[in-house]
Amino acid sequence: MSHSTTTPPMPTTRWEPDRAARLAPWQTMPMGLALKRGLRCTCPACGETRLFSSYLKVVPECTACGAPLGQVRADDAPPYFTIVLVGHIVVPLMLFVEKTWSPSLWLQAALWLPLTLGLTLAFLQPIKGATVGLMLRLGMTKPPEEA
Ligand SMILES: [Zn+2]
Repeated sequence: MSHSTTTPPMPTTRWEPDRAARLAPWQTMPMGLALKRGLRCTCPACGETRLFSSYLKVVPECTACGAPLGQVRADDAPPYFTIVLVGHIVVPLMLFVEKTWSPSLWLQAALWLPLTLGLTLAFLQPIKGATVGLMLRLGMTKPPEEA
C-alpha cells in the first residue's frame, strides 16, 4: 500500500500588523521619559501632575492629559523591585561590616533594621511610579471591573 496522494502546498500567508489600531498618546512617548517621570512621581504621560494622591494610591486619571493612570494595576511588582534593590544595598553592607569590625548583635540590629525600613519606604514610591510609567507606556491598562 503506497501513499501516492500528495497534499497541495498551503497558500502563502503574510502576517500584517493591524495598521487600523491607533495608539493612545500615553503609548507613544519615549520609554525612558515615561520611566523618568514615573520615578519623579509625576504623570508618566505629561509630567505635569502628581501621580499619587497619597503614599501609594495612584490618581484615577491625569487632570492635565487624561491618561488613565488608575487603570494601571502595578499590583505587587513595585514591592518585588524594591526588595531586590534594598537587598542588594543592605546585604553587602552587612557582610562588609561583619567581616571588617564584627560589632555586637544589638548594634547590628540597631543599624540594619532602621536602614532597611528607611530605604524601603524611600524607594517604594518612586519605584511604583516607574512601574506605572512602564506599564502605561506598554499599554498595560485594565478598565475597572463591571459590577
Ligand atoms: Zn498627564
